[in-house]
Amino acid sequence: MINGARVFVADGISKVYTMGDIKVHALRDISFAIEAGEYVAIMGPSGSGKSTLMHIMGCLDRPTSGSMYLRGKDISSLSDGELAEIRNADIGFVFQNFNLLSNISILENVEMPMLYAGIPPRERRERAVRALEMVGLGDRMHHKPSEVSGGQRQRAAIARAIVNRPAIVLADEPTGNLDSATGTEIMELFDELNAKGNTIILVTHERDIAEHASRIIHILDGKIDRVEVRTERNGSVQGWEAVEA
Ligand code: ADP
Ligand code: MG
Repeated sequence: MINGARVFVADGISKVYTMGDIKVHALRDISFAIEAGEYVAIMGPSGSGKSTLMHIMGCLDRPTSGSMYLRGKDISSLSDGELAEIRNADIGFVFQNFNLLSNISILENVEMPMLYAGIPPRERRERAVRALEMVGLGDRMHHKPSEVSGGQRQRAAIARAIVNRPAIVLADEPTGNLDSATGTEIMELFDELNAKGNTIILVTHERDIAEHASRIIHILDGKIDRVEVRTERNGSVQGWEAVEA
C-alpha cells in the first residue's frame, strides 16, 4: 500500500560516540528514503548500528552530521521541545522490552500519547479502546502490564504506538523477548497493520523477521551494505532481488 510520498528521508547520517579519547563511529553516511505505506526492515548483526539508527530516526538522539526529513519537513535542527512533540505525535515506537508503565493499566498506557497531544478525555478513551480491540486486547485493557503475558504486553505497546496515527512506526527487535510462536503472532500483527496503511520500519538481526518487510536494508559496521526488495508475481512471493542502495 505504497502511495509514493516520501515520508522519511535520511541524508548522509553519521553518528560518532565519544567516550574520553575513544571515538566509536556507529553510523557512517547513511542515506535512504521511506515511502508512505512501506514496510522496511533494517537488518544487521549485533553492534552494526541498528539501534543507533532507530534512535536517531525516532528523534530520541541526534546525528553527529547529516539531515533528516519527516513528511518533507527538515527535522535536523529542531529544538529539544520540538523534537519531543514530533516523537509523540508523528512517531510510534515498539521496543524489545515493551517499555510500558507498570503502575497504570494497559488502557491508560495506550491513552498516554494522546494525553501529551492534548486530545480530550472522551476521544482518548474511545481511540485507545479501538486500538486495543484491533490488537486483540479488548478483554485485557483494565489489567496492568504485569498481569498479562509478554505477547499481550507487546500488543499493548503496538496499540500505543499506532494510536496517534503516526507518520512512521519504528520497531526495534520487537520479538526479541518473546518465544517463537508468540513472535510469529506479533509479526502477523505488524503485517496486518501495514496492510491497513501504517508505514513500518523494523529493526532486526534475523532474516526470518526481516522477510516480513518488502525491502531489506542491510547495515554492517554503521554503513548500508546492500538493499534487497521482495519480488512478487500475481501476489505470491518470488524471492529477493538486490537493488541500488
Ligand atoms: P545494534 O543495535 O546493531 O546492536 P548499536 O546501535 O547498539 O548496534 O551500536 C552500534 C555501535 O555503537 C556499537 O559499537 C556500540 O558499542 C556503539 N554504541 C551504541 N550506543 C553507544 C553509546 N551510548 N555510547 C558509546 N557507544 C555506543
Ligand atoms: Mg540494537
